[in-house]
Amino acid sequence: MTGPARVSEKALFQPARTVSAPVSLRGVGIHTGTDCAVTIHPADAGSGVHFALDGGGSVEAAVRNVVDTDRCTVLGNGGVTVSTVEHLLSALIGLGITDARIEVTGPEIPILDGSARPWVEAIGSVQIRESSVPRPVPPLSLSAPILVTGKNGSFLAASPSDAFRLTVATVFDHPLAGTQVARFAPGEGSDFARDVAPARTFGFIEEVEALRKAGLALGGSLENAVVVYPDRYSSPLRFASELAYHKLLDVLGDLFLAGGTLPLTLDIVAVKPSHRLNVEFASRLWETAARRNLEVPIGT
Ligand SMILES: [Zn+2]
Repeated sequence: MTGPARVSEKALFQPARTVSAPVSLRGVGIHTGTDCAVTIHPADAGSGVHFALDGGGSVEAAVRNVVDTDRCTVLGNGGVTVSTVEHLLSALIGLGITDARIEVTGPEIPILDGSARPWVEAIGSVQIRESSVPRPVPPLSLSAPILVTGKNGSFLAASPSDAFRLTVATVFDHPLAGTQVARFAPGEGSDFARDVAPARTFGFIEEVEALRKAGLALGGSLENAVVVYPDRYSSPLRFASELAYHKLLDVLGDLFLAGGTLPLTLDIVAVKPSHRLNVEFASRLWETAARRNLEVPIGT
């Protein structure tokens, strides 16, 4: 029996990357229904991703700053919060952006078309600047598998590997949505912009009606979400398994909070993931890898 190929830890230090110029997008927030604007500014190599909050102060995109995971991921600092950060963070991790100052006007990140594609296109319009200096943050790696479990058989597991691979399964008791599987393996030809970014937010019609009655999802519309009816989708899916690919997009966005780059030596499997479970997993991953980095000095 052979284990995964050993990869030099030094080779896993990823380059620091930022946007070459500020880029802005604006639109409605899906939960609050308010008009929100975001400008992504370049930032120094190694500084990380920080949201400059409307109302003062800033918060780093790090798992210790998560204050809520109910229906979206919320970051906060000193009582000021920014909601629905996951699709923007997914675009950043997918494009390898490690450093940015993100100025936010409004309480949440705009939902746009419900996917990460508008962020990928906006960032692509200004190009990405790569620093010759690698990030000072040690790579996330594990010496043994980790597992977090949630309700109804949901779990996320990571095991040491020779490359980053992420497999996500969604399981719905629904004639149309059923079981879907999505897979993202950049070393095996997956492309974030093509394969993951276009997958849109979705909701089942009965959930959507309940949220509306409760005064939630105020910005939700057929322009920014796929509504799943018993026998049809509100618009044609962009590709097969779009629902599972959206969940994969969400897992990647929440994974950003565990260190700001793809963990290049982990094979991750997520079944029925949710933001709550993703953030618990990111937290466990960050703590376990940090402990390991203390025990195993980089370069040995
Ligand atoms: Zn999402």
